[in-house]
Amino acid sequence: MAQLPNSLEARDTAFQLHSYANARRQEETGAMVIEKGEGIYVEDISGKRYIEGMAGLWSVAVGFGEKRLVDAATRQMEKLPYYHTFTYKTHGPSIELAEKLIEMAPVPMSKVYFTNSGSEANDTAIKLIWYRSNALGQPDRKKIISRVRGYHGVTIASASLTGLPNNHKSFDLPLPQVLHTTCPHYRTMKRDGESEADFARRCAVDLEDLILSEGPETIAAFFAEPVMGAGGVVVPPDGYWQAVQPVLKKYGILFVADEVICGFGRTGNMFGTQTYGLEPDMMTLSKALSSSYQPISALLINDAVYQTIADESDRIGVLGHGYTGSGHPVAAAVALENLKIIEERDLVGHVRNVAPVFQKRLAELGENPLVIETRGVGLIGAAELSHDALAQTPGALGARANAAFQEKGLISRAMLDAMAFCPPLIITENQINELFDIAEAGLKTVS
Ligand code: PLP
Repeated sequence: MAQLPNSLEARDTAFQLHSYANARRQEETGAMVIEKGEGIYVEDISGKRYIEGMAGLWSVAVGFGEKRLVDAATRQMEKLPYYHTFTYKTHGPSIELAEKLIEMAPVPMSKVYFTNSGSEANDTAIKLIWYRSNALGQPDRKKIISRVRGYHGVTIASASLTGLPNNHKSFDLPLPQVLHTTCPHYRTMKRDGESEADFARRCAVDLEDLILSEGPETIAAFFAEPVMGAGGVVVPPDGYWQAVQPVLKKYGILFVADEVICGFGRTGNMFGTQTYGLEPDMMTLSKALSSSYQPISALLINDAVYQTIADESDRIGVLGHGYTGSGHPVAAAVALENLKIIEERDLVGHVRNVAPVFQKRLAELGENPLVIETRGVGLIGAAELSHDALAQTPGALGARANAAFQEKGLISRAMLDAMAFCPPLIITENQINELFDIAEAGLKTVS
């Protein structure tokens, strides 16, 4: 892509450092400048239209251009554009949203703590877990277990939870308190002759072995996504959660379900927790909470955890934590309206209705010889390309497929060689077919 002098692309390269990009490569190629969006589509500054096959970053559940969210933001901006939630101050939108989330929670939850990103929600969870361990007189109980290939964010603590090498390299991470257990990806992690059911049980054994080798009294919590997203869309094998959860219970380890991607319909239930029968003590939410029209995230805490934290704040005199933007009124108002839309339009029922077509078309992508595995649930999925097929280095083929899809009008996301699809929840059957027609045609051009 040529960067014309003074073009938006050239100015972007001149002034902006991008996330998840090779800065030097962008100097050569420039970036795609997106200008507007409507429904499942976005348009770049040249007027080229794309299916946003990733809903932005797994997030724009109700699609682009939803006027009700614009109106909700405008109304709140005019009335009270900002107020905080520190030290006994509050405002209507944060109260209503907290009440709504407690009402929607798939397992009993007691309190909501608002943050501005998924990373901050997970970071806050870790801080409150440590606070709790100290309150319980268990200062050695500080270790946190997450999983290889899990994704939980990029702050120092949440990047430590993330189990992906590029989130650690040269950042001096992970923190020593964070440990990673087996990724539940059967194809790559199974042992010779191990059935899927045996593998699911062995993941729980690996977890228990780690707990025992570290000392159960040192382990405070386990963080996991119901379905791993950014680690390559890893759907757990049957029986995985049924084997893992008793291990956590046995050693009194808190379970934090990171529902940042799965929350609000993605897997065909309102929460991934319901799809997999999870019983978390805490949950983190973001992305589809506001369809990312405004940055907002939330940490839900059950009553037992809350009571200990409340006692500790009483002992110290204050809960010394808080973000200027916690429960931001405009973000909260947008989230409330977004949740209303999800419920009124029964988007969860819609996901269940269209998921069979989505999953069928995804599986059919597997007929392309470059694809070694397809996997997914609800409206999330990935097609893994074999870098061996063309003797490429990991990620090279994914980058080529990404470019081929883009050329034909589809935005996907390559996680190394796993091509992810996670469209807005409003996508219709016809649009699902359009998405996979492009992906099929695009893959045929990859060589
Ligand atoms: N948790 C999960 C499961 C995510 O997918 C993400 C982001 O993709 C995060 C946490 C971090 O969220 P944020 O990018 O808003 O910090």
